[in-house]
Amino acid sequence: MESISNKKLVIVVFVIAVLVTAMFVFLVVTNVKKVKTPQPVPAAPAPAPVVTTPKIQGPVHRVLGLSVQGRQIESYTFGTGKTQLAFVGGIHGGYEWNTVILAYDFIDYLNQHPEFVPKDLSIVVIPDANPDGVFKIVGKEGRFSVADVPAGSNTTGRLNADKVDLNRNYDCDWKPTGTWQNETVSAGTAPFSEPESASIKKFVLESKPAVVVFWHSQAGAVYSSNCDAAATAETLDITKAYANAAGYQALTTFDQYEVSGDATDWLASIGIPALTVELKTHNTIEWDQNLAGIKALIRYYENN
Ligand SMILES: [Zn+2]
Repeated sequence: MESISNKKLVIVVFVIAVLVTAMFVFLVVTNVKKVKTPQPVPAAPAPAPVVTTPKIQGPVHRVLGLSVQGRQIESYTFGTGKTQLAFVGGIHGGYEWNTVILAYDFIDYLNQHPEFVPKDLSIVVIPDANPDGVFKIVGKEGRFSVADVPAGSNTTGRLNADKVDLNRNYDCDWKPTGTWQNETVSAGTAPFSEPESASIKKFVLESKPAVVVFWHSQAGAVYSSNCDAAATAETLDITKAYANAAGYQALTTFDQYEVSGDATDWLASIGIPALTVELKTHNTIEWDQNLAGIKALIRYYENN
């Protein structure tokens, strides 16, 4: 009996040992299998695009309106900041064609140096506010170069195709006729009767620029604006800032003859500081001087 019980015990122990061993082997094998089982490779995320240069925002081009003869009055806006600085060339057409070239050179400069416009500012350039007057002298629409301009200045290119002096057609002390040097010039049938002036007015009322500079020639001076009131402190500050940087005279009033319907004076009347910047001659651009003046305005509006 004892030997049978011992045998049974041995068998039981043996069976248990076999089961334990089998289980151990099973676990080891399945574990190894688990380790060796190739895991599914997760789909690789799409590689991020490699950006080597910051994206450069080109200017926003707009057509503000059409001239009497249907030519485009265009604007180019650089930067997206809220405070807008506007620069206008050519209001006196082909007589002051150098101001149009200055404006186009400024557009080129901004295209080449987009970092020139601080992030809180934007710059709008309207290169030619009187394209019919420019066409009359230069014989080209849009962009032109000095080589396209015939020698000698031609005063007839000063007016638009209605023979109106556009810088007498704005709504500050407007009269049907204005004075230019010792001549009487047409100022249109009403303020903003001319499509060129109406285009600039529409731009101003929609965009509400912080400041507007009109380039003219040839007096070598920067004039403040006002409409039957003293120029504001801000206007006087920016007159000095531009003039000192550019090396032009800073003048608070134009007193050589009475001026009615002036664009900058209309801007002053609606609370927008504006400057008349007169280049020194009718055929020089004075690029470095005006770039310095523009930089002075940027510094002023960046910090105010
Ligand atoms: Zn002028």
